[in-house]
Amino acid sequence: MLVTKSVRKLVAYTPGEQPKAKDIVKLNTNENPYPPSPACAKVLAGFDLDRLRRYPDPECSELRAAIAKMCGAKPENIFIGNGSDEILALSAKAFVENDECIGSLDPSYSLYKTLAAIRDVRWVGAEPKNVSSLPPETSLFLWTNPNAPTGEFAEPETIDSFARRFKGVVIVDEAYADFARDNCMKLALRPRNRNIIVMRTFSKSFSLAGLRVGYCAGPRNLIDALYKVKDSYNVDAIAQSAALAAVKDVKWMRANARKVIATRKRFTAELKRRGWDVLPSESNFVFARPAHAKASEIFERLKGRHIYVRYFSGPKTADRLRVTIGTDAQMDILLDALSEFDK
Ligand code: PMP
Repeated sequence: MLVTKSVRKLVAYTPGEQPKAKDIVKLNTNENPYPPSPACAKVLAGFDLDRLRRYPDPECSELRAAIAKMCGAKPENIFIGNGSDEILALSAKAFVENDECIGSLDPSYSLYKTLAAIRDVRWVGAEPKNVSSLPPETSLFLWTNPNAPTGEFAEPETIDSFARRFKGVVIVDEAYADFARDNCMKLALRPRNRNIIVMRTFSKSFSLAGLRVGYCAGPRNLIDALYKVKDSYNVDAIAQSAALAAVKDVKWMRANARKVIATRKRFTAELKRRGWDVLPSESNFVFARPAHAKASEIFERLKGRHIYVRYFSGPKTADRLRVTIGTDAQMDILLDALSEFDK
């Protein structure tokens, strides 16, 4: 057999659809409906092609310093990846032995399970209330906060007290933290902390999913371990420049996040008025159970109308739809389409 046993039995992660058609309402992959900072456009338009002749800075030094400043950290406490997905894959390499396992909340970001399978180690899922019951060989715990697909938020103190009792590395996946009321960055930067990494991405709040840049902050020895196992040039030159421009204009991101939060509140209230059960979300999506029809049926019907939301089959998720918060106009189109399911 040419392909290893673990890869032969591997079920690959399925990302949300990226339909090619232009006339769609795309609320299925938690992208930001607003454009990235105009400073990014300027950098891209003026990008000197001669820079592509050379390899990019392997340590993303300038971007690293700017992110450190934004987080109130030192550059040596920051790692930058080709999307936060890369940081997750590197963590599975750096922090997990072959006979250990990877834990996460369940339900949560389903890529974690696939990463454990790629690494050929066991994955264990836990409810937020039961994280202390993980098997002792769990050496990496991925705590998504706010969680996906639920949108629910755990207080930093809850995660801190779990991390203090946990012997492995805790990565707080804060892909959606800019839409939440608080975050765990202070935990990752606290000098006495030895095992908490906080991970963020430019894909959501910064409106740069296509750029592929993510970062994390944490204790120096853990950050150094990630640097050891990364590809030499993991973040390309264009991505480094555009992400730097975005960081320098963080106000732009914050204004967009505020708009998304306002729309989330309005959309949630309207779904509730129609009898849907909507989990409290601190994210740029909501996870909602329809009042009068099956989630799977609504998902298909919306797709027929070129409106894409996300449906996850599976025992803990199949009765709900995950809807990314778009512009007010997009949410109105969706609400209009959903009215056929009102009683
Ligand atoms: N973490 C979570 C919880 C996510 O939902 C996503 C996006 N699907 C990621 C990480 C990865 O984001 P990216 O690789 O675009 O930084």
